[in-house]
Order: sequence, then C-alpha cells, then structure tokens
Amino acid sequence: MTETAELKNLIKSILLEYQDPTQSEETQQKTYGIFDTVDEAISAAKAAQLEFETFSLATRKEVIEALRTELCPFVAEYARETVEQTGMGRVEDKTIKNKLALDKTPGVEDLRTEAETGDNGMTLYELSPYGVIGAILPSTNPVATLLNNGIGMLAAGNGVYFSVHPGAKNVSLKLIKHMNKIIEKVVGISNLFTSIAKPSNDAVNEMMQHKDVAILVITGGPGIVRMGLTSGKKTIGAGAGNPPALVDETANVDKAATDIYEGASFDNGILCTAEKGVIAVQNIERQLVDGLIRKGAYLITSEKDIQALVDATIIDNHPNKELIGKNAKVILESAGIQVTGDPKLIILRVSIDHPFVIKEMLMPILPVVSARDFKQAKEYALEMEQNLHHTAVMHSNNIGRMNEVARAMKTSIFVKNGSSFAGLGINGEGPTTFTIATPTGEGTTTARHFTRRRRCVLTDGFSLK
Ligand code: NAD
Repeated sequence: MTETAELKNLIKSILLEYQDPTQSEETQQKTYGIFDTVDEAISAAKAAQLEFETFSLATRKEVIEALRTELCPFVAEYARETVEQTGMGRVEDKTIKNKLALDKTPGVEDLRTEAETGDNGMTLYELSPYGVIGAILPSTNPVATLLNNGIGMLAAGNGVYFSVHPGAKNVSLKLIKHMNKIIEKVVGISNLFTSIAKPSNDAVNEMMQHKDVAILVITGGPGIVRMGLTSGKKTIGAGAGNPPALVDETANVDKAATDIYEGASFDNGILCTAEKGVIAVQNIERQLVDGLIRKGAYLITSEKDIQALVDATIIDNHPNKELIGKNAKVILESAGIQVTGDPKLIILRVSIDHPFVIKEMLMPILPVVSARDFKQAKEYALEMEQNLHHTAVMHSNNIGRMNEVARAMKTSIFVKNGSSFAGLGINGEGPTTFTIATPTGEGTTTARHFTRRRRCVLTDGFSLK
C-alpha cells in the first residue's frame, strides 16, 4: 500500500468514527446546494438544470406544489429569523410577504405559447429555459425574493445560483437547503438552487463573469444593477424606487389616509414599492394628516425635532444604514425624541426639496408635501419619483386626472385608490413579484421573463383555417 492510500484510509476511518449513524453516507456528502466556491456552485446548478429540463411540465408543477405546501408552515419562522439577522422590518409583515410569495408567484401556467398559422404552415414561439440564472438578492426582502424568484425561475425550467446578501446569509442559505431538500424528494435532484457558504462582493463579480451563467436577475440598489448592466451579460435589473402617493381634492381622503398609512408602515417602509412620501392638494391636506394620525402615525411638528431626525437618519448624505428598516420608535429615540407606545409611522410636513422626499430612506418616515392644486401636485409627484419609473400611487375620483398622472409617471406599478402593496398582489388583483424590473423594462417579473423566446417553424401544415 502506498503512503497516500494509507493516509486516505486513515482519514476515512476517522471520519467514520465521528459519523452520525442515523444518516447515510450519501446524505452526509450532500451539501443541498451550498458550496465553498462560486465555480463549484454554478457547475452543480448546471448539472442539476440539465437533468431537470428533461422532466415533464407535470413534474415541474409537482415540484412547485411541494414547495408551496411544505414551506407554508415555516413562513413565520423564516420571517422571525430574517428580522433577527438583518435587524430590519417586522415579523408579522415579513410573514405576510413570505406567504404571498409562496401562494401568488405564478408557476408553469405563466409560460404561454404564441402561435401563427397560414398558407405556409405553423410557427410557434416557445418559452424555454436559459440554463443557470445568476440571481442577486436584496437584504430588505431576502426570503420573500428567494421564494418568489425560486418558484418563478424553476417554473421556467432553470437552475439558479443565488447571490445572497451577506447580512442575510444564514437565513437565506438555510432556505436554499430547505428548498433543495423538498425538490429532491420529488425529482431526486439536490442542487437546482445553489450558493456559497461565504458570500462576498468578489464572489458576486466572479458569478457575473462565469461562463455558465446565462442571465443575471438583480434585485437591489442602483449600484449593483449598474454592475450587472455593464457585465456583458443579459440582465434583468430591479432597482431602487421612491414612490409618491398623490392625493387630490376629489379623493376619499379618509380611505386614502388608511391606505397610505398601511402601505408606508408595512415592514417599516423597506419595500421598494412602499409610499415614501405624500403629495396632497392643500385643501385636503389637513384632513389627510388628521386621518394618518388617527391611524396611529406620530406627527413631528417642531423644526428642532425635524432637524434632529434628519441628523440621526442621514449621514454623509446617505440614509443611516443603522436605522434602515428599524421601528419608528427606535428611529425617534435615536433622534432624542421620546414617545409612548409603538407608533408604526413617523409623519412630518416638509417642502418638495426636503431630503426625506428626495432620498429613498427605507424607513417608516413619511414626509407630507402640500401642493397648491392638482397641476402642482402632479409636478411634485414627478419630481419626487425622479424618473426611476418604479411605483406611484394616486388617490382620486377623477378618472381623467388618474389617466393623466399614470401616463406621465411611466412607472412599472401605478396603484389607484389603494395601498402601494396592492401592486404586489396584497388586496390587489394579479400575481405577486418581489423583482420589479424597472431599469430594464420587464416590470413585474414572472416565470415568462426568465425564459428564452424561441421560434419553431413547421412548413406546409397545421394551418386549419
Ligand atoms: P444593495 O444594492 O445594497 O444589495 C443588493 C445585493 O447586491 C446584495 O446581495 C449585495 O450583497 C449585492 N451588492 C451590493 N453592492 C455590491 C458590490 N459593490 N459588489 C458586489 N455585490 C454587491 O441593496 P439592499 O440594501 O440589499 O436592498 C435595498 C435596495 O434594493 C433598495 O434600493 C430597494 O429599492 C432595492 N430593491 C428593489 C426591488 C425591485 O424589485 N425593484 C426589490 C427589493 C429591493
């Protein structure tokens, strides 16, 4: 026996000694998608995807059904762990988001075939898998986006390398493993979703350049979307927003106050779609603010307190990372403002050029700007949204005005007379998504966006017209 062989045997016997007797050797060797290197993770996802694409659509449906059913009992647990790890948001709201992603993310039914027929035969346009998708996840909705992207990308027949945010690493990797275990039970594949044990910026760069990543799907801030767009790969980029809520004098103002309160305070304001400011026509402004207060919003009035809040929440011209997604009470106290109870939203009256209006704060702070009339309100709403074309909300009973603002805003989501979250499918029709691709134009993404559109032509036949 050579020295190397002896050494190998010795290591094997030591490992066997410490092996958990309840697990088979095969189970112990499985990493359920989590690898040490980017290359290993992408290669494993590639091998898994090549096998997965040989299965029927019925099997894909079965896998998705298993994910929906088996993950459902864990939505609150994942919500709690996300809040614990990221320090952002509220458990009850994250639970709603996780459940929404499981229940309302479309599956294979989203892959609609188009056909053309005529004297020359029939042409189909089929939506086929890309292969391996490199999906970059945000810290603000790590689990909901993972569930949503996971189901949609798998429905489209892809494997996925998930680039998780380091600040949400543990909960994200736990969920990837969990999903792979469920997938394995149905189809015997354990690496359809992969990632690496130690996420880093270097790893993101490596993934973006990897030859076996067919397309990038990026959900995050403007910097990372820009990186994707300059990577040389096809990119679906879902970037930042700064949604205004415009309320005119024809609106049901009390309902508008309720809807805006619920949307802006949801998960402490960290959804990219959440109302980040209100533009109110001046003759209903007081009624609206009163309505927000009645719902539980905490109004700050003194200039001194407003300045203290700015100083606490904006550092070097950027939102203070320590306070992003924190409860309103924590934010107020960090500004030296003592409150009783646990208000979910801070409101204050400011002018259109105030930093709280212009910056995407991702905090439960809602500035209210008064506009002279509808015309000025529309101009202010456009100014606040800054051509991000992401999301806008309007409360009005004037259809002509709603049409006019919707056309002018050019946003991926435009909600009329509801909370911003209606645009994600909460109390609003339509499927859900946590990847709203505005810079690249796909809008509210679903399975069909994660496919390659292919033309398939049959000559001289199957036109039955
Ligand atoms: P972020 O841009 O800081 O991080 C997003 C992802 O990019 C993370 O996985 C992070 O690790 C990675 N990343 C960031 N900078 C990087 C760098 N220099 N090199 C390599 N990787 C890098 O965003 P966030 O704070 O996690 O999320 C909040 C932002 O995302 C907000 O701007 C919000 O509007 C946006 N967002 C948009 C959508 C949408 O659908 N449009 C959804 C959720 C969040």
